[in-house]
Amino acid sequence: KAKEMGRNTYSFFTPEMNSRAQERHTLEVALHKALEKKHFLLHYQPIVDPHTQTVVSTEALVRWNDPEKGLISPEKFIPAAEDTGLIVPMGEWILRQACADAAHWQQEEGLNVGVSVNLSSRQFMRSDIYGLVKDVLKESGLPASKLTLEITESLLVEDENEILKTLRKLRDLGVLLSIDDFGTGYSSLSYLKRFPITTLKIDRSFICDILSDNEDAALTQAILSMAKSMNLKVVAEGVENAGQAEYLKERQCDLIQGFYYSKPLALEDLLLSLKQKKLSA
Ligand code: C2E
Ligand code: MG
Ligand code: MG
Ligand code: MG
Repeated sequence: KAKEMGRNTYSFFTPEMNSRAQERHTLEVALHKALEKKHFLLHYQPIVDPHTQTVVSTEALVRWNDPEKGLISPEKFIPAAEDTGLIVPMGEWILRQACADAAHWQQEEGLNVGVSVNLSSRQFMRSDIYGLVKDVLKESGLPASKLTLEITESLLVEDENEILKTLRKLRDLGVLLSIDDFGTGYSSLSYLKRFPITTLKIDRSFICDILSDNEDAALTQAILSMAKSMNLKVVAEGVENAGQAEYLKERQCDLIQGFYYSKPLALEDLLLSLKQKKLSA
């Protein structure tokens, strides 16, 4: 009987759930180790002004370089890093590295190119993000106007007064604030009026079928015209071909990011590409 009960209790966790929990645990332990051993690196994806064909900025995208498994995509470990709180020290390293790299290409390489850094909501809520940004700018010598912080709509539904205060202080420093994956969140658009946002990044899912799907095209055009009247810049993400780029350019989209111009690149490759193509201001 006891055995039966034991089995019943155990079977509450399906074998699948159990192995998933185990996998998560293994991942957490490995992430801890990787952070200690500095097994992370940043790739940079150019953000291009289609009207002048120049790279005006880049987005820093983290990768985990595991000695055995090679490069691991952030989609595989950012959620676990967020759940465990590891995103706080990891995010601090990312911001520091991105600003140091960007200060280097500005000052040593003479490239007038900015950098965009993704922030998780957890990082925002559980650490002094303002203090960190201020210190990192000072330390690196990167002009604040060359740093964009990418946040998501989900952050703006958290403690509104706290978030608003912090975003205002960040804007006062001179950093730019961008809404990543714009259009995929559930929050009311009225937040755009209240928060000191400078940029919208139209989510890749709208851009993907922009040439064939009338509804995606209509949504994109609505975002572009709203942004224009609210004085916000627009970046289109996930642009993969000339047709999409042309479409967006004709409709006055300010900036374009996607495989059509470039995949995310290791720092050395980014610098080579910027110098060779002279694709920067
Ligand atoms: P995201 O911030 O929206 O970044 C854009 C993602 O789209 C990147 O994936 C990029 O490689 C990919 N992408 C760019 N152009 C194209 C394209 O033309 N076609 C397609 N199919 N994909 C394109 P990645 O590097 O795998 O990053 C995935 C997500 O992981 C990011 O989405 C972001 O939410 C998160 N992430 C990446 N780096 C960081 C980081 O440093 N901190 C935090 N908190 N999150 C990060
Ligand atoms: Mg992003
Ligand atoms: Mg995005
Ligand atoms: Mg995303």
